[in-house]
Amino acid sequence: MAPRRALGRLPMQRLTIAGALVVAGCQPPVSDYANARAVCWVEVERWHPGRNADEAAPMISAECAEALGATIGLDWVSFGFTPERLQDSATGSFVLVGLLDLLADEQDSAQDVWNDPDLPQFVYEELIRAQVAPDAPRAELMFAMIRASLFVSEFADASPDHPNAAAYYDAQDHRGTFTPLMLSWRPDLSHFDAPAVAAGIIVHEAAHRIYGGHVPCSQDPEMDCDLSREGAYGVQLWTLAGWITRYGGDYTVSTCATVSEALYSRCSEQIDGEDKLEWAPCLVECP
Ligand SMILES: [Zn+2]
Repeated sequence: MAPRRALGRLPMQRLTIAGALVVAGCQPPVSDYANARAVCWVEVERWHPGRNADEAAPMISAECAEALGATIGLDWVSFGFTPERLQDSATGSFVLVGLLDLLADEQDSAQDVWNDPDLPQFVYEELIRAQVAPDAPRAELMFAMIRASLFVSEFADASPDHPNAAAYYDAQDHRGTFTPLMLSWRPDLSHFDAPAVAAGIIVHEAAHRIYGGHVPCSQDPEMDCDLSREGAYGVQLWTLAGWITRYGGDYTVSTCATVSEALYSRCSEQIDGEDKLEWAPCLVECP
């Protein structure tokens, strides 16, 4: 399409171009959410929150894997696998089952998310501006947030300072040059077997665009903390607690325990303030 600036100066040409585009069936670009939802509809139909990552990964088709991977700019080669061969990379497929978990989470609408009093304020201000209809599923809103944040995901085997995943975020670079965030994963991450745990990590890394980095924990300066719920950890914990509330019924007992473990350890170790004592997500329990 022509750059927007040129259109005002050439009204007749603009009409001709517009007419040609209508005839040619030019559509607005399909969002990552719409594309992934269309390609992965079988996977979403079959999705069950109680499956662990090992059970969920083989159910993802190559087409669906490709669509999910495109959402976070997955660098397949660095992860050592392809969309056809998910089993070649435990870590890579863990990322994909996390994305599928987010894609299939249709229980609430975007409006429900905006109304959630536990949603951290800065991420609320981000999500309320998203081009998503109020009655759209929660998944569409979360995909809009992720897509705005993560553009390149590569596998980094050697990141000793980052025990889980890391979005390398440099606010100055990001503002100046739109440097993409880099999402890196370590191989041992897949021992957290609940896909919802991966979903929480993806959302955490996406939230770095909004919150920037962490601060050293007061108890252990080697560890990363946030001073309150307003930080990437807070958004991750909100994600995990919401999953437990929506899906943590007794039919997902072992998966819920894994998600709950991830929630409590982060609440107690990585929110460095009194906030967690009265914040509902840190108090959520499996049924
Ligand atoms: Zn972080």
